[in-house]
This record gives sequence, structure tokens and C-alpha cells, in this order.
Amino acid sequence: MTFEEKKMEYARLIVKAGVHVRKGQTVFIRCAVEHYEFARLVTRYCYEEGAREVIVRYGDTKTARMRYDFAPVEVFRSFPEWDARMFTTFAKNDVAFINIVGEDPEAMKGVDPEKISAAVKASSEALKEYRKLQSTMAFKWNIVAIPEQAWAKKVYPGDNESVAVTRLWNAIFGTVRVGEGDAYEQWMAHAENLQKKREALTAYQFKTLHYTNALGTDFTVGLVKNHRWEGGADRDRVDGGPFFANMPTEEVFTMPDNRVAEGRLVAALPLSYHGNLIENFEFTFKDGEVWGFKAEKGEEVLKRMLEQDSGAKRLGECALVPFPNPVSSQGVLFYDTLFDENAACHFALGACYETNLEGGENMSEEELREHGANQSLIHVDFMIGTEDLRIVGTTWDGEEITVFENGTWAF
Ligand code: ZN
Ligand code: ZN
Repeated sequence: MTFEEKKMEYARLIVKAGVHVRKGQTVFIRCAVEHYEFARLVTRYCYEEGAREVIVRYGDTKTARMRYDFAPVEVFRSFPEWDARMFTTFAKNDVAFINIVGEDPEAMKGVDPEKISAAVKASSEALKEYRKLQSTMAFKWNIVAIPEQAWAKKVYPGDNESVAVTRLWNAIFGTVRVGEGDAYEQWMAHAENLQKKREALTAYQFKTLHYTNALGTDFTVGLVKNHRWEGGADRDRVDGGPFFANMPTEEVFTMPDNRVAEGRLVAALPLSYHGNLIENFEFTFKDGEVWGFKAEKGEEVLKRMLEQDSGAKRLGECALVPFPNPVSSQGVLFYDTLFDENAACHFALGACYETNLEGGENMSEEELREHGANQSLIHVDFMIGTEDLRIVGTTWDGEEITVFENGTWAF
């Protein structure tokens, strides 16, 4: 497959597997302005699959940065009501969302953290209904990335810009199984494997998982009762066809009990949070809450993140990713959670996914709280998996089962 053919295969994969566009469906694409050529390619395939209409909204990180630098903080405390209504209306009317990302991981470096937390708060509140529909997979959505120059230079600092961009394209193709054979077929087989793992884990109903590795992690997390492991494909509410909210996706994940987390948890990869890098960091948990933390770089940003609200210090997601996999085998740090979270086992601080709890999508906030489901305006994944990671699960009967050995599945 030539380079151009791979781009076409990727665009087709996003349309067919990513959001599984149906005949007569409207598609809403969000994309950075510099990626217009790829957006046009995706648009064309949407129409080829029978889309009724494709709406494209371009964004621009550079002007967004100017807004952060020059607009007063009050600007970030509100979110346009018409904009929130558009998202909710689309979500309720069977529109398929494609979000094409890829930006400078340090685009927001040095921005006043108060403006960032104000913006996070305002958009989370305004988009609450939309986010609920999104997290319960009430409509089809998909996030994918394509290279941007500053991002590519960050990943491949030794190369000139155009070489770095090409290398990043090729790495991304590798992560999404584009390049050899029919990518769509490979995704269907991959989804089947993930489904087997999630079914086996759900059947065990572990009470706790205990993590250890040479980095110094010695950590126990509790899982909520009646948790469900998810991962791989989600299902179209209309025709049952598979779609993938994230590409790549290598994880299976479930809901931690936000009252049960003890011990030391050391990050294995840096974290890019709203354009700021946090490096060499770790947490100490007590009674489910972050009790201590430190970071060699970005500690102030990390502190702000933890102070966002009362749920920001507790866990909302527990995800397992085996080594090696098509993301980790690229041998680079992507500085982007979409990729890096699929390279390694991770947790998320903040909001949980209600669908990780049996019947959770129909529970009130109060009922969810009683089950130990975490609620927060943030959801931030951080990677803790290493090649020597060991995880032992303990069931409610006290039976111990090794889940991970040397960074990969032990069963
Ligand atoms: Zn995850
Ligand atoms: Zn997550």
C-alpha cells in the first residue's frame, strides 16, 4: 500500500468502523483548519456510504491560544448556550460525530491555569446533557488523530518537520492497523478478542486488583459491585452495527469504587493536560482519595487539576492494556492521551462511565454515588503500565487470580 493509499484506507476506516455511517445519516465532523484535505477525504467517504449530509466545523488552535492570552478571565466562565444546544440537538437526532484531532501538545503551555479551569468548568456544565448521551453511547461518536507539525516534532525531535510528519503518519497507521490487508476486517477480529477478555473479567467480579512493578507502584483498587468491563466496539442503537469511539483502542476498562484505593501509584508516561506536560509524577492514595502527589514537571498544573472539584482526587476508570500492542510497539511517546492511554494500563481521575455499572445508565446521581461511582467535571487518564507490571485480582470469596504477569494477560 502506498502512503496515499494508506491515508484513504484510514479515512474509509473512520467512516465504516469508527462511526459506522448508515444510509441517510447526518455526520458532523470537527477538525483543525490545517487538516482540511483529510476532512474532505472523510467527507467524501461519508457520502459514499450514503450519508444524507456532512457538516464540517473547523477549529484553530493558534487563534484559540490568542483567546487564552488576551481575553479576560470572565470570557472563560461562560459557554455559548446556542453552541451547547447544537451539540445536544445533534446527539438526540442520530447525528454521527467524528472528531479529527492532532495538535501541538504544548499549545497551551504557560496559559493562566485559572482560565483553563474556568473553561473546563463552563464547558462541562453547559455540555452536561450532551456528555451524558456521549458517555452512555446514545449516539455514535469517534475520535481519531492525524499529524500536525509541532506535534510530529515533539514525537520525533531529531528529524526535520516534513520527515517527522511522515513518520508520525506511519506510526498512526501502525496503531490503527492500516497498511497490511483489509483494515476493517482486522478491526472486527480485534474487537472480538477484546470482547472475550471483557466477558471473562466481568464474570470474575473482582473485589480488588493489586498492582506492583519495579517503578515502585504498590497499589490496591476496589471495583464497584456489579461492574461491567467494556472495550472495543460499541453498538449502534439503531441497527446494532459496531462502532469505535476511539481509534486506536486497545483497552478494556471498568469502574473503580471511588472509596477504595490504597498505596503508591507511579506514572509510567508523561501526561499532556490541556496543552501542559506533567512528567515523572506519582500519587499516594488513602481511602480512595489522592492524599499525596509529586511531579518533577508540571506540578502546579497537576495541583490545579486535583483541586477542580471533590471528585477530581478520586478514580473513575480502571483500564487494562497488555504489552506489546500496536501502539506500544511504535516505540515512541505520542504526547497525546488518545494514543498513550492505549499503550499501557491506566487509571482516570474524575468522572466514571455509568455504563461500567450494571444498570448504571438509568441510575440517578444519588444512586450512582451509593455504588461508589465517581463524579467530577474532569476525566483525566494517566498511564501506569510497564513491561513488568503484575496485577492480582481478589474475588469476594477471597480467591486470588493473577490477571497480568510481565505486563500482559496471565489468562
Ligand atoms: Zn481508558
Ligand atoms: Zn479514560
